Amino acid sequence: MKTYDALLQPVEKPLHTEVEADQLNVHSIETFGTHDGPGIRMVIFTQGCQFKCLYCANPDTIALKGGYWLDVEEIVQKAISQKPYFGKKGGVTVSGGEPLLHRKVLKKLFQRLHEEGINTALDSNGRLIDQQTKELLAETDVLLLDVKHINDDWHHRLTGKSNFNTLKVADYRESTGKRMWLRYVLVPGWSDQEEYLHELGQRFKDFTTIEKIEIQPYHKMGVHKWEALGMEYGLHGVEPPTQALLDKTVAIFKQYFREVKVN
Ligand code: SF4
Repeated sequence: MKTYDALLQPVEKPLHTEVEADQLNVHSIETFGTHDGPGIRMVIFTQGCQFKCLYCANPDTIALKGGYWLDVEEIVQKAISQKPYFGKKGGVTVSGGEPLLHRKVLKKLFQRLHEEGINTALDSNGRLIDQQTKELLAETDVLLLDVKHINDDWHHRLTGKSNFNTLKVADYRESTGKRMWLRYVLVPGWSDQEEYLHELGQRFKDFTTIEKIEIQPYHKMGVHKWEALGMEYGLHGVEPPTQALLDKTVAIFKQYFREVKVN
């Protein structure tokens, strides 16, 4: 069995050489996406992630090596061809993997999309917060921030990393006054503890930039991918949340957030 760590490379390793600075390492592209940001969107899944979420539905996006390279301008032209379908709300979402690993080239992509009048969204776990992240967030119309757990011990258990930077990204985004949605994967026995759901609500209840929180019920659709990659799946025996658990979580979050949606 391979482990995650065998697939991951050191955090410091640069992903882009100067030659590649106008290219994005892409895992896949989805058209007409309706689950990753406002309206109808083209969703670009980038390659590489430093988290190792036990429930990851796309473990093939985790390895930093893989995917294929696309020029920023090729992506822009693809988005322009789909622009008639985006309507007023839609646009382009970059997801992952973890898109912040590609923040330098993504800033260029989002700038170009803005020049073409196309809305930009970033679906991120908030793993990195530096000047380049801030510059990318300035070009991001909607940040979809995945908070995997509010308790750092549980966050470590679920993802292998701390939630420290994720919370810093949330605080930074709030300071800019720009739009943000939170996303929360609800895993029975792992991220459904009532006290922590309340703690998460308390942590964010005064944020003015958070328009809604989306609950993403745990599912087992990625298990076969783990097996195909020869990787050990860590949540065998865990079932998706029941309707009662979903209802209870929605009721708790409604005490703190303007809008609560189950995705
Ligand atoms: S952050 Fe997303 S892509 Fe990365 S391991 Fe977790 S679920 Fe998978």
